[in-house]
Amino acid sequence: MKSDPDAGGLFAPERVAVVGATEREGSIGAAIFQNLVDFAGDVVPVNPSRDSVFGQECYPDVASVPDGVDLVVIVVPPSIAVEAVQGAGEAGVRNVVVITAGFSETGPEGAQREQELRSVAEEYDLTLVGPNSLGVLSTPLNLNATFGPSNALPGSLSFMSQSGAFITAVLDWANDQGIGFKDVVSLGNKAVLNESDFLRYWQDDPETNVVLGYLEGVADGRTFIDTARDVTQETPAVVVKSGRTDAGAEAASSHTGTIAGSEAAYEAAFEQAGVVRAENVQELFDYARALDGLPTLDSEQVGIITNAGGPGVMATDAVGESQLTMASFTDATLSSLEEAMPEEANIYNPVDAIGDADIERFETALDTVLGDDNVGCAIVISAPTAIVDFGELATVVADRQAAHGKPVVACLMGGERTERAAELLGEAGIPNYFDPARAVGSLDALAVQQDVEARSYEEPETFDVDQERAREILTEAADRGARRLGVEAMDILDAYGLPIPDAELVEDPADAVKAASNIDGDVVMKIVSPDIVHKSDIGGVAVGVPQDDVADTYETLVTRARNYQPDATILGVQVQEMVDTEAGTETILGMNRDPQFGPLVLFGLGGVFVEVLEDTSVRVAPVSGREAGEMVDELDSAPLLRGARGRTPADEAAVEEAIQRLSQLVTDFDAILELDVNPLLATADGVQALDVRLTIDPEEL
Ligand code: ADP
Ligand code: MG
Repeated sequence: MKSDPDAGGLFAPERVAVVGATEREGSIGAAIFQNLVDFAGDVVPVNPSRDSVFGQECYPDVASVPDGVDLVVIVVPPSIAVEAVQGAGEAGVRNVVVITAGFSETGPEGAQREQELRSVAEEYDLTLVGPNSLGVLSTPLNLNATFGPSNALPGSLSFMSQSGAFITAVLDWANDQGIGFKDVVSLGNKAVLNESDFLRYWQDDPETNVVLGYLEGVADGRTFIDTARDVTQETPAVVVKSGRTDAGAEAASSHTGTIAGSEAAYEAAFEQAGVVRAENVQELFDYARALDGLPTLDSEQVGIITNAGGPGVMATDAVGESQLTMASFTDATLSSLEEAMPEEANIYNPVDAIGDADIERFETALDTVLGDDNVGCAIVISAPTAIVDFGELATVVADRQAAHGKPVVACLMGGERTERAAELLGEAGIPNYFDPARAVGSLDALAVQQDVEARSYEEPETFDVDQERAREILTEAADRGARRLGVEAMDILDAYGLPIPDAELVEDPADAVKAASNIDGDVVMKIVSPDIVHKSDIGGVAVGVPQDDVADTYETLVTRARNYQPDATILGVQVQEMVDTEAGTETILGMNRDPQFGPLVLFGLGGVFVEVLEDTSVRVAPVSGREAGEMVDELDSAPLLRGARGRTPADEAAVEEAIQRLSQLVTDFDAILELDVNPLLATADGVQALDVRLTIDPEEL
């Protein structure tokens, strides 16, 4: 895979050759050639079986084109496509777009062909898009090297899509909406160039303000996170990821595996990468337009001005569900509003200028609200009335936004009567929505992006750990054929500095008694068997066992295990120091390995109820200190850790350190496929791992 593509050559060539150009109606070769007629540079047809195409001299191959070309578009049948790409490479061309389908999307034979294509691209160091691509498009030079029916309007959004069909639909719609693009690329099968390459390219492109992506997956999760993390510090990237069924999660056997499936992986990765995630196509464009057209947000406090109560409440509700907050106005603002508004009006946020509000009243209210230092952005809502002309109101909104330099979004509600106003607003970069929730969503996207730009990347901490001892434990387990390990492997946590209670694995009642005598007071005893996943479910955990009952309890636990599964392998019983679980909160700390992104670390509250409560947070490891903090913050139940209802607050720093230490463990050992520490008891004095379960792959050791 090329790491540093000169994608510029793809979007700004001087001479383009279309290999496979024809005049045959309905053919892709004809469609592309015709779409290229308005290109600012030269277009040359290449086809050995024709002398001319649409009146232009045709050449048998790229090498015979006089003066050379710098972009080749391949539309020949799949059987000769690789050869055609090779021809371009030999002729010294570096930029190639392979439109031809019939590669990995079609089965083993196609996959083989794609492999050949990749080798050729590597050999000639090609910047190659596709195969199975709709093509590329770039408005500054009016380059439309696609076979779609629509061209794009000029603009500052650059768009990559894994679906070519989606591009054709989007362009058609965007043209109606007046939304323009700088570059558009149909990624196709991503044999060479993928989403990370284009992100990187557009970061440095002064004409691209916002990157949009429609992705079904990412080619290389780690590269994507590292690249996007850097790009999004200055160029916003909004991505809609279409869902896939989650085969990985079904196969998982741990709590973490069940929860942290590929959907969670994408969510975590996008968050860490600073990508603004859109749930659907509407959000994709709402967010992109807001990020493109509106000034940057300095504060998340919204002021709302409306002439209708209901929509004002809807907007207020939406603010409650977003990252934004309702601004509280200064006294000066309130007295100005009081002076300017009729008595029946509401001068508190959301400001209700009531149904008879005219343009002047709207203008004064907006000007006053935007002038308040507590207000970072505003929404102007108007239902149609006989008094307000939407065109005039649009002009006022645009003027006031320009005067104050704060983002303003409009909800001039209605049908046809809003069209002209929406156009006027659009010229000022201000979106207009019917739905107040969409207006709030757009401002929220600004808030998300502003957080992304404000944060700085922090190298994950490397703790001083005993990696060798961890390796020995894993190797020893692998040597005896174990794939699933339980509490017998607790020392692996200790090796990475995660506190564990005193414990000993014993194989008979007498040794159990001896082990217990080394511990003060009552003990905890647990059956140790790779075949028993949830020990307490089968009565395999005895908490608070008095010293005198240890021998009997040993027998009881083994009998229960035998009854549950007669052929279960039983390694023995673990005698553990009893800790006061009432003094703390049971949390879960786990890891699952995602095929795209690698190790995902999960943290949540709830111990055995974790799957019921569904209150967990996930990050791709390695996890930095800041990210570990976010993982705790994000939980709805975080107040439980922080001492809600008279509880003693847990040592949060210890929790965050445990998250990072586990992250280091699973990053160091690819052999650990999944891991649960459940519970990780969090108290005021720190954390303690009371149970562990992991699955290993000895091949990776
Ligand atoms: P499993 O998850 O396989 O059922 P655990 O080892 O997690 O088994 O034990 C189940 C529960 O028993 C824990 O959630 C915790 O409430 C309690 N427990 C486990 N170990 C201890 C201990 N050392 N001290 C006190 N309580 C414990
Ligand atoms: Mg457990």
